[in-house]
Amino acid sequence: MAKPPLTILLCAPRGFCAGVVRAIDAVEKALAIYGAPVYVRHEIVHNRYVVEGLKQKGAVFVRELDEVPDTDAPVIFSAHGVPKAVPETASARRLFAIDATCPLVTKVHREAELHHRRGRHVVLVGHSGHPEVVGTMGQLPAGTITLVETVEDVARLLFQGDELAFVTQTTLSVDDTREIVEALQSRFPGIVGPHKEDICYATTNRQSAVKRVAPLVDAMIVVGSANSSNSQRLREAAEREGCPLVRLVLRAEDLEWDLFKDIRSLGVTAGASAPEVLVEEIIDAFAQRFEISVENVSTADESVFFPLPRQLRDQAAE
Ligand code: SF4
Repeated sequence: MAKPPLTILLCAPRGFCAGVVRAIDAVEKALAIYGAPVYVRHEIVHNRYVVEGLKQKGAVFVRELDEVPDTDAPVIFSAHGVPKAVPETASARRLFAIDATCPLVTKVHREAELHHRRGRHVVLVGHSGHPEVVGTMGQLPAGTITLVETVEDVARLLFQGDELAFVTQTTLSVDDTREIVEALQSRFPGIVGPHKEDICYATTNRQSAVKRVAPLVDAMIVVGSANSSNSQRLREAAEREGCPLVRLVLRAEDLEWDLFKDIRSLGVTAGASAPEVLVEEIIDAFAQRFEISVENVSTADESVFFPLPRQLRDQAAE
């Protein structure tokens, strides 16, 4: 029986960002230079496929440093960043720490510190419990930084005076964050912060591409992990654009084929921590059931590159 036709609109940019490439490279280079084991605090990036692949090469993932024995082996901090107490503990234990925090997250840490030094209370816009938020809150003493997640949270803030500043998580919804920042500026006209917010180029670009494609297709697939903030924001962006069927999936085996049997057009994107091989796996799975034609829809060119963490750069060059 002839396969039904399906047009696939492939969002670009999609998938790995410069911070994720750097973090994965850091673990692989550390394994190549120092051999296994290499300890990694938390998932190096939020993707189970990536984490499992690194485990097979000798990476040992831990939740906290107390799971790391006294060792000469490297201990790598994830792209999401860590509270200040973590490198301090590593140093006190004389562990060989390698910080793979994305430079764009580090930039937010430095902004928060600068505001604090200038006597401002810092409001962090972000999602409670996300490792990046835990890391940014942990740059400042307790009680000097407050998390807000919604416009309603802004209405409940009890500050007075102008000594306020804001920073944001890097992987938020551009639209939601604009509303929250506007609410902050309206309640606290003297609040200082970045020009718009701290959402990174990769998050912004992937959301823009999804907004272009989602209104044009019968269904949209976001390749990524459920615990990946930027992947969840891509799913939400597609839903808001009115796409009738949106699914966030890690692998082709997660697809519920019944839902897709009548579609004639499909948008595909991938979160910043999802490798391209998983996008190809999803497209191959559709090619087995449909006569597919694939078109690229590009809304931005990306050429951002971050060098390896300092501790690995010289060794890698040798
Ligand atoms: S999503 Fe943005 S902030 Fe996060 S690792 Fe990638 S470039 Fe860095």
